[in-house]
Amino acid sequence: MLLIQDAVSKVLSGMPFVVPWLRRWAGAEFLCVNYHLVSDRPNPLLGDGFPRLTVKAFERDLDWLLKHYRPLSLRDVIRSIDNTGQLPARGFVVTFDDGHAECHDLAAPVLSRKGVPAAFFLCTATLDNREMIYEHKKNIILAALKDGPDPQAARQALASLPGLGSAAGSVEEAIRAVDYPQRHLLDAAAQRLQVDMAGYLKAQRPYLSEGQVRALMKAGFEIGSHGIDHAWIAVLDPAEQIRHIVDSTRHLRELFELDYGLFAFPFSEEGVPDRIIRAALDSGLVDLVMGTRNGARDEIPRCVQRTGADIKRGATPTRFLKIYHDMILDRRRGRGVVVRA
Ligand SMILES: [Zn+2]
Repeated sequence: MLLIQDAVSKVLSGMPFVVPWLRRWAGAEFLCVNYHLVSDRPNPLLGDGFPRLTVKAFERDLDWLLKHYRPLSLRDVIRSIDNTGQLPARGFVVTFDDGHAECHDLAAPVLSRKGVPAAFFLCTATLDNREMIYEHKKNIILAALKDGPDPQAARQALASLPGLGSAAGSVEEAIRAVDYPQRHLLDAAAQRLQVDMAGYLKAQRPYLSEGQVRALMKAGFEIGSHGIDHAWIAVLDPAEQIRHIVDSTRHLRELFELDYGLFAFPFSEEGVPDRIIRAALDSGLVDLVMGTRNGARDEIPRCVQRTGADIKRGATPTRFLKIYHDMILDRRRGRGVVVRA
C-alpha cells in the first residue's frame, strides 16, 4: 500500500504545478520541519514503533525541501517576524528534538554538506548523559520485559509494583501509560527488572555531550531547550511551567554563551495558557517558542508551529504530500490557526 502511495506521490510531485499548488492550498509557504532520529540502526530509546529515518532518506528529504523552499535558521525566522510581522515566505527550517547523539554523528554532516542550517533542541537533564528522558526509559523497560531471560517472571515482578495500575490491562500497557508526574514508577520498575539505566547511559552515551553541542555550534547550528526533563508542560502548575521553559533556556544560554534563546515544547504546547507563553517570551531569555501543531499559524507571532517530518510513513515525496494533506484538512476543520484561552 505504501509502495503504491509512494509511486503516486512521486508522479504527482514530478508535475511542476502540483507542489506549488498544494503548498498554497495548505498554507505551507513557510515550513518548519521536526525530526528526532536519523540513523541506519534502530535506537533502543525509541522502541520499535517510532519511525526512524535512514541517512539516505534524510538526504532525500533535504533535497526535496531545497527544491521547493529556501533553507533558513531560526534566527532568520525571528528577524522576519520582527521586520515584517510574517514568517518568511518559501522558507524552511529543520529542527531536531530530544538531543540524540546521532544528531551530531549522522544528521549534522548531511546538513552541512547540503548547506542547510538546523536547530537542535535538547533537555538540560540529558546533557552529557546525566539522565534519561522518562519516555525513553519506557522503551528500555519494555525491551527488558520482552527480551529478558524469564519474561513471565519479569511481568509478575512488575504486576505487583504499587501504583503501576496494571490491573486494567497488560503490564506493557501500564508501563506505556505512565505519565510525567508518575515517572518515579519507571525507576522502580527498572530496579525490579535489574535494568541499570545509569550504566546504560554511561556505556552507550545516547544523548549529546557538551563537547558535541559545542561542535554543532562551531559548525553553525543553533541550540535550543526542549525543557529540563521532557515534562508535559501543560500538566505542571504555572510556576513550574515558567521554570521548565525559562530556566532550561537560561541554563543553555549561560553554559554555551548563546546570544539567543529558543524553546521547543516537549510533546506539544497544547493546554499551556496564553499568559504563560507570553510571560516566557517577555522574560528576555526566550526569543522564540515552538509547538508541534502541524504548521498551523499561531496568534502569538513568536510561537512557531512545526510539522513532524518523521512521524508520517512513506518515502520522501509521500510524507511531505501527507503533511500538506493534513494541513489542508486542519484548515477546513478550523484548526489552521492556534487561538488560546
Ligand atoms: Zn521531545
